[in-house]
Amino acid sequence: MPVGTQGTVKAVAQDVLESLGAEIILGNTYHLYLRPGHEAIRRMGGLHRFMSWPRALLTDSGGFQVFSLSSLRKVTDDGVRFRSHLDGSLHSFTPEHSVDVQIALGADACMAFDECTEYPADRARAQESLRLTMAWARRSLDHFRAHRHEVPWHDPQAFALNPAQSGVPQVSLLRPGIVPLSTQSLFAIVQGGMYRDLRRACAERLVEMDFDGYAIGGLSVGEPRELTLEMIAEVLPLLPKNKPRYVMGVGYPDEIEQYARMGVDMMDCVLPTRAARHGLLFTSEGRLNIKNKRYSEDQNPPDPACDCPVCRRYSRAYLRHLMQAGEALSGTLNTIHNLAYYLGIMQRVRAALEAGSSADAGRLILDT
Ligand SMILES: [Zn+2]
Repeated sequence: MPVGTQGTVKAVAQDVLESLGAEIILGNTYHLYLRPGHEAIRRMGGLHRFMSWPRALLTDSGGFQVFSLSSLRKVTDDGVRFRSHLDGSLHSFTPEHSVDVQIALGADACMAFDECTEYPADRARAQESLRLTMAWARRSLDHFRAHRHEVPWHDPQAFALNPAQSGVPQVSLLRPGIVPLSTQSLFAIVQGGMYRDLRRACAERLVEMDFDGYAIGGLSVGEPRELTLEMIAEVLPLLPKNKPRYVMGVGYPDEIEQYARMGVDMMDCVLPTRAARHGLLFTSEGRLNIKNKRYSEDQNPPDPACDCPVCRRYSRAYLRHLMQAGEALSGTLNTIHNLAYYLGIMQRVRAALEAGSSADAGRLILDT
């Protein structure tokens, strides 16, 4: 999922995202709550309609941004109080409030409010964080079930961008056999720090609560990659195979391929978009820093093996020039290529899955 923090995948227009084959993008609850405000977006018919995105949307719970961006946060059993990173104003998120905001935004998939355990965290800290996350998951679910009908596109006609585009968007899922989402859904987030037994306990309890999908959170927070892999391998087999399984906040191109091959259906990461704006391109030949002087007269496309609109049309020399000149088009073109590269990885994994009987797919469906 490309990350569309503030109702936009930075530097790339929605029609381009569609043409690249993005089927679902992520919006950040914390940012949209602060600006322009979830009630304003509700009045605009929900985030799909507001940003003119007819495909699926997922919103995070806001918890991760509260913990990483805001100041003066105070966590209690009830929720978290924090100051806006924009103007210092005081706010609070409870599980109920986070769910209300996400319902107002009208995402296809919402996330239960959780506390993301930092790394490193000792066992007592991870345990306390886990206790909160599970209590908040229960409250999120109860509140969601009581209020999900308030979603702005509950009436499918209300979503119509124009008469030709009506209907509720659906999340297209990676693995065959998964029940498609036809209404708003709530995912739980497995926490537990880097402790395998805590992760297991959390996953088992959340599965008993019967959410629509499951995420593994609190990863890619600075831990070594082997540990990320170990936690995913520990938790994944405990999550229902007929529901989406989502690893949050990963990763590099080889990581997302590896996790998809393990049975992960969904991932999100700011890396392809953020790196692009800093001139870092992911290619079939490895990472390419377009700022490098060696590309100043290089007429090759950024990635000779890529058939994205940028690689079909522009040279490394031109992209380097745009970056050097500080042109807005630089971020746009770099981002389009990186997203095409990431989406291409997932498209290949999907194709291998659909091929089913091929030797490659045999490796893919590990059936953990
Ligand atoms: Zn390309």
